[in-house]
Amino acid sequence: MSAADNLRDVEAAIVSAEREANRPIGSVSLVAVSKTFDGPMIAPVIEAGHRVFGENRVQEAQSKWPQLRALAADIQLHLIGPLQSNKAADAVALFDVIETVDREKIAQALSREMQKQKKNLRLYVQVNTGSEPQKAGVEPHAVVAFVQLCRDTYGLQIEGLMCIPPVEENPGPHFALLEKLAGEAKVEKLSMGMSADFSMAVAFGATSVRVGSAIFGKRDKQV
Ligand SMILES: *Cc1c(COP(=O)(O)O)cnc(C)c1O
Repeated sequence: MSAADNLRDVEAAIVSAEREANRPIGSVSLVAVSKTFDGPMIAPVIEAGHRVFGENRVQEAQSKWPQLRALAADIQLHLIGPLQSNKAADAVALFDVIETVDREKIAQALSREMQKQKKNLRLYVQVNTGSEPQKAGVEPHAVVAFVQLCRDTYGLQIEGLMCIPPVEENPGPHFALLEKLAGEAKVEKLSMGMSADFSMAVAFGATSVRVGSAIFGKRDKQV
């Protein structure tokens, strides 16, 4: 099966999950995660009509997306991996959405760069729902205050929350926690669910799911 065929299957599975959860058809958007895959793998998915993509490394995205963007005017590129503040300028220049705002230094750097480049990116705060020491993201108890800090001190409009649940756990409670925190922080969007669990994420209220291997196939590299 080609990536374009897989894309249709994933889209159909999202519609089924929306229907099962009694949610409006089309309420969940699909971020096709193209990390590690090269331009010739990604281009057919753009040609099949898909427009929303996710990458987890700024440098890798810079090497692929300037050419790929030429294929369609309305591509939306999401950064879904950790951002270092010294890459903020590059990230603001290349991406439309940054899903991994998780500390004050990044909020400050993004605020400065967006003003400088006169670009208004859509932003999500990443939440470390499993409080895993090796994982990026704001601790659950600190989310409300951090979203407020982003708004009040740095003038950033945070659109939603994003999480990557611990791999070895049932993701359901993590999705539920993210949904609860979004209510407390008064943000609307929920980016949660990957290839293995996106249907469950839809049931828990995801507004976007990030799906890589179910579309593009297995990745060689562990990233
Ligand atoms: C790689 C990645 C995904 C996609 O994972 P799959 O299991 O391939 O669907 C989603 N979110 C983030 C943050 C990722 O790094």
